[in-house]
Amino acid sequence: MAPLVPARLRLGKVVGMPQSHIARLGRAQLRIAEAGADAALITSPANVRYLTGLASSNAAVLVPADGIAVLGTDARYAETAERNCPDVELVVAHEVGPKLARLAAERGCRTLAFEAQEMTVERHADLSALDGRPQLVPLGRVVEQLRMVKDETEIALLARACAITGEAFISVLPSIAPGRRERELAVLLERAMIERGAEAVAFPTIVASGPNGAIPHHSPGERAFAPGDLITVDCGARYGGYHADMTRTVALGEPAAWQREIYELVATAQLAGIAAAIAGADVEDVDATARDIIEAAGHGGHFQQALGHGVGLEVHEAPIIACGRTGILAKRSAITIEPGIHLPGRGGAGIEDTLVVQAGPGPAEILTSVTKELVVL
Ligand code: ZN
Ligand code: ZN
Repeated sequence: MAPLVPARLRLGKVVGMPQSHIARLGRAQLRIAEAGADAALITSPANVRYLTGLASSNAAVLVPADGIAVLGTDARYAETAERNCPDVELVVAHEVGPKLARLAAERGCRTLAFEAQEMTVERHADLSALDGRPQLVPLGRVVEQLRMVKDETEIALLARACAITGEAFISVLPSIAPGRRERELAVLLERAMIERGAEAVAFPTIVASGPNGAIPHHSPGERAFAPGDLITVDCGARYGGYHADMTRTVALGEPAAWQREIYELVATAQLAGIAAAIAGADVEDVDATARDIIEAAGHGGHFQQALGHGVGLEVHEAPIIACGRTGILAKRSAITIEPGIHLPGRGGAGIEDTLVVQAGPGPAEILTSVTKELVVL
C-alpha cells in the first residue's frame, strides 16, 4: 500500500523547514529594498505565515531590507514561534504592530512600508500616533505576488490537500441516493476529509442538487436528492495551511439530453482552460479560451463567474483568472480552472480542478485527480 504522505514530508519537519522561510524572506527583502523602504511591517496573517511559518491570529513580522526579521506575537503563540521559527528574532507583545514599529524606529528605520490592503484605518492611526515613528508608506501586494509562485514545500502540501479531497469525495459517492439531503452529504464529505487527515475544511462545502445547481454558491440545505438530479459538489481540504479546491458534478439516474449537453460543454471548456494555463499566459486569454466555448454554444449568460483563481495559504488568492483582470501566469503558480453553466430554474453543472502551472512547456499538473467523466449513480 502506497504511503499517503509523500516521502519528503515524512522526513521530519519539512513543514517548518527554515530553508524555505529564509528563501522567502530573502525574496521579500529584495522587493522591500526595490520599493525604497528601510523595512516592511507585514501584518496579513497569511503573509506572516508564508514568511515565518507561524499561523497566528495576532502576529506581525518586521522585515528589514537588510538584516534579520523580527516576528511579533502574543504569549499564546510564543512557544510555537520559538520552536518553529528559529531564524527570526522573536518579540512577545500583545499590540504587535506598534511594538514592531517602535523597534524599527529604534533601529534606525526611517521609511516603514505597510500592507495597505490589510491595515485597518484604526491600526494605521495607532501607528501614526507613535512618537518618533518612521514615515509610513504603502508596500503594495508584494508578498502576495511572491506567493503566486509556489516552492516545493508548498506544492507538496497542496498536493496532499488535494489528495485528501479526492479520496474523501470518492468515499461518499455511494451515499448519494434519492432521499439523501444536501446538508447530509456536505456533513459526510467534510467528516471524510477530516478523517483522512485534513486539519479543517478549506471552505464550507457546497452541495447543489437539481434546480439548486442554478446557484453557483448554493448553501446546502434540506432539499432531498431525486432521480434525474445533477448534483454539483464544490469542496476542499486544508492541510498544513494549504487549501484544495475541487468541483465535480454527478448525475443521479440517467441524465436527460440537456444535462449531458451542459456537462460536456463545461468539460470541454474546462480542458481548454487547463491547456491554456501555461507560464506566460495572460489571465484574460486563459479565461477567454474557456468562455468562448461556452458562449459559442449560446450559454455565455449562464457562466457569469471568473474562470479561476490562485490557491494556496488562502483559498482565493492572486491571480484571479477572469476577463477584465490583468496578470500573467507564472511558473509554478497554483490555480483553479472552474467553468460552470447555471440555468435559472433548471439546474447546472460545474467542474473545477486545482493545478500547478509548469515551469517548462508541458501542460499544467492537475492535483485533483478524481475522474471528470460524468459519473451516473
Ligand atoms: Zn471551488
Ligand atoms: Zn474555486
